Amino acid sequence: MHEPIRRADFVRFVEAKLSYFSCQGCGSASYDVISEENVDGKGAPGRLAVIAFAFPGYDIADGKSADVCGLACTNCGTIRFMFRKVVTNWIAANPTR
Ligand SMILES: [Zn+2]
Repeated sequence: MHEPIRRADFVRFVEAKLSYFSCQGCGSASYDVISEENVDGKGAPGRLAVIAFAFPGYDIADGKSADVCGLACTNCGTIRFMFRKVVTNWIAANPTR
C-alpha cells in the first residue's frame, strides 16, 4: 500500500540534501514542495510519477513509470523532480525524533 510521504519529512530531506535551490527556469531561490498528502489541493493523498523517465533500473520500453518527488518554483512554476526511493530511504534512516 502506498504511504504518502509527509510534507514535513520531504521538507526535512530537501533542507538536508540541497545546499541551495536555484530554479532552472528563472533562477529564483523560492520553492515549495509538491505534497503527496494533498495532491489534488483538497487533501487527497497521491503520488507523482514520470513516464519513460530514464533512470538506472527503469526500462523505458517497459512503459513503467518512476516514482518521484517534486519541488516547484513559486515564481515561474518550473518543476524539479527527485527520485522518490532516495527520499524515502533518507527519511527511513533519519526519522523524526
Ligand atoms: Zn522559476
